[in-house]
Amino acid sequence: MEKRDYYEVLSVSKSASIEEIKSAYRKSALKYHPDRNSGNKDAEEKFKEASEAYEVLSNSEKRSTYDRFGHAGLSGQGFHGFSDVNDIFTNFSSIFEEFFGFGGGPFSAGRSNRSGSRARRGADLQYDLQIEFEEAVFGAEREIEFERAMLCPTCKGTKSKPGSSSTPCKTCAGFGQIRQSQGFFSIQTTCPSCYGEGTVIKDPCKECRGRGITMEKKTLSIKVPPGVDTGLRLRVSGEGEPGMNNGPAGDLYVVLHVKESEEYIREGSDLILLQQLNIAQAALGCQLKIKTLEKEEIVKIPPGTQHGYIHTIRGGGVQKLKGIGRGDLHIRFELVVPKKLTKEQKDLLERFLEISRENDDQGFFKKMFF
Ligand SMILES: [Zn+2]
Ligand SMILES: [Zn+2]
Repeated sequence: MEKRDYYEVLSVSKSASIEEIKSAYRKSALKYHPDRNSGNKDAEEKFKEASEAYEVLSNSEKRSTYDRFGHAGLSGQGFHGFSDVNDIFTNFSSIFEEFFGFGGGPFSAGRSNRSGSRARRGADLQYDLQIEFEEAVFGAEREIEFERAMLCPTCKGTKSKPGSSSTPCKTCAGFGQIRQSQGFFSIQTTCPSCYGEGTVIKDPCKECRGRGITMEKKTLSIKVPPGVDTGLRLRVSGEGEPGMNNGPAGDLYVVLHVKESEEYIREGSDLILLQQLNIAQAALGCQLKIKTLEKEEIVKIPPGTQHGYIHTIRGGGVQKLKGIGRGDLHIRFELVVPKKLTKEQKDLLERFLEISRENDDQGFFKKMFF
C-alpha cells in the first residue's frame, strides 16, 4: 500500500506548529484507540498510521528529513514506523500519560502494570554479516551466532531472588514518577529512589546480581534473498534484546557486506565484465566463450570491433531487489596491443603495414616517414 503523506494523515498544514501536531494526534489517538475499537483492523491501521506520522512530525530532525526527501529519505535512515500497537504504547508511554493520565489509554485501567513500572521495549541489535558475491547474487541461508541479553532464567527478569518480592517504591507510591509543584507549575520527573521502576528490590537475584538479565549465545538462521548488496539491512523482528516489565523484545538488524567479485564489476543489478581482445581478433571478428553467472556462453564479436565496444546480454545480471527480473551483463572489450612479437608475427605485421600504406583510405600513413 502506498504510504500517505504524514501531514495529510494528521490533517495539519505543512507549517503546523508542534502544538498543532500534538493536538491533531491526540484527536486521532482518541478516535482510533484500540481500547475503543476492539478487533477493528481498520482502526488499528489508522492508529498506527497516525502514530507514525506523529513520531516523525514531532521530531524536528525526522521532520526535516521527511520534508526534504519524503518517505524514502526516512527509510533510507532506517526509520520503519511501528511494528505493532504495543510498540506504540511502549514508545509513547509518556505522551499517552500526558494525553490521558497514567496508563496506555483513556478507556482501560492502564497498560502499565499495577506497580507502576512501565513496559520497556528491548534494544535493537546490529550484526554485520560478510557474504560472498555469489551468495548476494543467488541468495543464501547463513547461520549467525552472537551474544545477547536474555531475561535471567532464575528470576525471570524480576530482579528479585525467587521467593522474595519487590515492594512498591515508597517515594513515588509505585508510579515511577513524582510530581512536584512549584507555584503555578507542576513538574513530573522520574522518581530518584527507584529510577522510574516503581518498585524497590529487597533481595536481589544472585544469578544476575539484580539486573534481571544475563547473556546468552544465540544462533539464528538468516535467509539472504537474491540480489542483495552491501549496506542492506535485514530486519529480524523480535530477535533483539528482551523487553523489561513485559515490554516487547527489540529487533535484530543484519547489515550485509558483500565481497567483491574477481570477475565482475557490479553496478546495482547490472554486471560489467572486462574482456581483452587482441588486434587481430578485433579486426577479423571471432567467437569467444564468455563466463556468465550461470554458464558459458558463446559471444560473436563482429569484424572491426573497436576498443570499448560493449556487448550486452539482457537479463544476465543480478536479480532486482525492487521490481521484477534481472539486470544486464555488459561485456566491455578492451583492445590489447602485443608488447612482444615473434619473428613471424613481426614479418606479418610489417607486410600488413606495407599493404595498408598502399590502400590508405583513411589517411593514416600520410604523415608517416619510412
Ligand atoms: Zn536474576
Ligand atoms: Zn519510586
